[in-house]
Amino acid sequence: MKNIAVIGAGTMGNGIAHVFAQHGYKVKLIDVNQASLNKGLATIASNLDRMVAKEKITQQIKNNTLSQIRTFTEIKDGVAEVDLVVEAATENLDIKLDIFKTLDEHCETSTILASNTSSISITQIGAATNRPDKVIGMHFMNPVPIMRLVEIIRGYSTSDEVTNTIMELSKNLGKTATEVNDYPGFVANRILMPMINEAIETLYHQVAGVQEIDTVMKLGMAHPMGPLQLADFIGLDVCLSILKVMYQGFKNPKYAPCPLLVNMVMAGKLGVKSGEGFYDYSQGKKAEKVSAQFA
Ligand code: NAD
Repeated sequence: MKNIAVIGAGTMGNGIAHVFAQHGYKVKLIDVNQASLNKGLATIASNLDRMVAKEKITQQIKNNTLSQIRTFTEIKDGVAEVDLVVEAATENLDIKLDIFKTLDEHCETSTILASNTSSISITQIGAATNRPDKVIGMHFMNPVPIMRLVEIIRGYSTSDEVTNTIMELSKNLGKTATEVNDYPGFVANRILMPMINEAIETLYHQVAGVQEIDTVMKLGMAHPMGPLQLADFIGLDVCLSILKVMYQGFKNPKYAPCPLLVNMVMAGKLGVKSGEGFYDYSQGKKAEKVSAQFA
């Protein structure tokens, strides 16, 4: 494989494009929104600058990486002759089904179609195409250039050959790939999201404040960051979408999203990407919110 397309240039898409480009793949980065493409490229450049400053890579590698990436606003213009597409668009079933139908129409029949979805059924996405054996989950973790895990999700019809190819490819990117089956939330979010949701419930019931909850989990459980800060990093809208998929998929109230999470998403408080979530990021870095009236 040499030619890759990445759909979506947001939090995850730009990180996925960065990692493939740094490992020598030619990347076509596609987003419906030109502003997202500009922001995505700027993020890749500043992440590469940080790596140069820390002497993890040379200036030459930075330049080579950036030169491997081309941007497009139309899927049909960017996916001809690619070996693999990694879709990292908004976590919404209708958007993903639409994208995969378009990909199926415009990609060569040999192209593998992967989704970075956090929770949506790979089997359902695959069934929207004429190549369900070549549809697979490739779930990178945030931030992609730093996190080593890729959760590889086999849909009901995903072939052994495609699974092996993607497992091997993930290793070539310097990642550790773990194969899991296709049930709502897979493994990572089935375990992570109930913890984040419970942290929000704990805040909602005013058991403790944001700092206190995060400090208990950071120092008490040796987590690198607290669950509320992590939710801000992931995006509260993404967390809500994942919980909804698990709630609907299992019909189990333990996955019901906390009303506070629902309210914050409706208010546009999405975490780091909107400048405010459980913490305030309006000054560029994390600060405690002045009025922590969540409940
Ligand atoms: P995001 O909101 O940061 O970015 C989504 C991007 O998709 C936006 O730039 C948007 O313009 C673009 N987009 C929307 N519709 C499109 C279309 N039809 N064609 C092309 N581009 C389109 O979202 P994100 O956090 O990067 O999440 C992307 C995917 O990755 C989701 O499926 C999410 O569940 C998954 N994911 C997210 C995280 C995380 O921590 N945020 C971690 C793992 C996986």
